[in-house]
Amino acid sequence: TESIQALLASLPQRIDELPERIAQHHPAAPALIENTRRLSYADLRDAIHAMAQQLRLAGVQANDRVMIINENCIALIVLIFATTRLNAWPLLINARLSSAEIEQIRAHAKPCLTVYTTEASAAAQQHAQRDHAWHASCIAFDIGALAFAKAAASPLGLHPALTPHDPAPSAATPTTDCSQQCAALLYTTGTTGSPKGVMLSHHNLLFIAAVSSTLRHVTANDIVYAVLPVSHVYGLASVCLGTLFAGAALRLAPRFSPEAVCHALAHEGITILQGVPTMHAKLIEYAQAHPEHWHAPQLRFVYSGGSPLDATLKRRAEALYAMPLHNGYGMTESSPTIAQTRLDVPPADTSVGPPIPGIQVRIVATDGAILKPGKVGELWVRGPNIMLGYYRDALATQAAVVDGWLKTGDLARQDASNALHIIGRCKELIIRSGFNIYPAEIEQVLNSHPDVMHSAVIGRPLSGDEEIIAFVELKPGTCATPQTFVSWCAARLAPYKQPAEIRLLKTLPTAATGKILKRTLHQLFTDDSSPPLR
Ligand code: ATP
Ligand code: MG
Repeated sequence: TESIQALLASLPQRIDELPERIAQHHPAAPALIENTRRLSYADLRDAIHAMAQQLRLAGVQANDRVMIINENCIALIVLIFATTRLNAWPLLINARLSSAEIEQIRAHAKPCLTVYTTEASAAAQQHAQRDHAWHASCIAFDIGALAFAKAAASPLGLHPALTPHDPAPSAATPTTDCSQQCAALLYTTGTTGSPKGVMLSHHNLLFIAAVSSTLRHVTANDIVYAVLPVSHVYGLASVCLGTLFAGAALRLAPRFSPEAVCHALAHEGITILQGVPTMHAKLIEYAQAHPEHWHAPQLRFVYSGGSPLDATLKRRAEALYAMPLHNGYGMTESSPTIAQTRLDVPPADTSVGPPIPGIQVRIVATDGAILKPGKVGELWVRGPNIMLGYYRDALATQAAVVDGWLKTGDLARQDASNALHIIGRCKELIIRSGFNIYPAEIEQVLNSHPDVMHSAVIGRPLSGDEEIIAFVELKPGTCATPQTFVSWCAARLAPYKQPAEIRLLKTLPTAATGKILKRTLHQLFTDDSSPPLR
């Protein structure tokens, strides 16, 4: 507790102070890397200042939402910090979202401006330009020219239709205590319903940056591979800010490709790799097919989070990486980390580790009673990582956070060593003939079959009861049939847990973050008369 108090007291007020702090003492240390480009901490600080001026010229003011649609790249990081420097809110959008999804978020968040960079993918640029047609407020920045020539006399690529609110901008001076102000507006994945806009404060994000960095012993010598989208809180707080907190280098990758990861591990000295389970699964497949490309001489820490990690994947991953696969759990509303496994206690099972220091957890029954250790109930969390609230949705905020306690909507139990085990989402619990069935248990059995890439299990309403439907994505070049899995499950699961139907899909629907979208499976494959998920 003492060290956590000291840590909290040592945090800066604003996330954009992180690069400044490092630049003061280690100006030449590498901060951001992409392909052949590198930005030192001093370059990063200067680029942020220049970019903040550009945004100011474009009319951005305090509390405005600035919608940023971009894959991971140097410019994205610069844009985020430049936006918070003006006390405006970065509204980070994954370029993989469909235009309908982006329109839904845009209509809710009402950004003053939409920004992408000249390095954004064609898809991201199209989205942004479509937005331009809606609001005539779309600008493209060329960070290459901005950051490297440092001679941006006029706004680069500024759209001529823009009339700056402030024709004579001065450098933004941070106001009084901003730590409780919104530093990012991030929409949840939308796994269980429509995405909700989560407002995270500077303090929320800095707390997680500090804790992630400290628990992983990140040092200035680390090079962290950042392929998780920075538009999601896991990529933003845990990967990006956690790295910059320690003065380490962030290697930005615009999209996940197993070849690119292998190349970076072999040739760029990557020391830390963070992913979601589907990424680890694809990387293992690739490395097994191309063992000659697998060489990770500097790798020292590998981490999975964001979705359940099953025992089979963990075992295969540890065989490939030749080190423990660490696991962490969290959600957008908690910036995101709630629990993570500890470096000095390599996890033997698929638990997500003890709660991070500085927060409190409870396991709660449906009637609100606090349960004893070992019992399964809903996980509640309280601490410096809990969101300010849902943007423009006071009712949803009141329902989710009561007396500072965030109700996670996830079922968990805490074991004798304090480690949390995530059992599944409350809403995904299948109740069949009076039995509670956790989809993850059946998914684990399916995933342990050698031909399976991923699987997803849902409940389908059937005359007042529920039946189990399983979806399986096979590994390329394998030839299992639904019947294969009927026998596989029959040999491994109690009769009431047997899927009523097993469907093979070419690919399981995934969200832009790589999560399997059960909501889409429900919509596609269950009875239209079934009640909506939430
Ligand atoms: P929405 O709230 O819009 O339905 P979402 O909950 O998927 O979407 P996120 O905030 O991205 O949006 O995801 C948080 C959820 O992901 C958690 O509530 C939990 O169900 C799941 N999760 C995250 N990490 C893990 C993990 N390590 N193990 C199991 N589940 C995890
Ligand atoms: Mg959620």
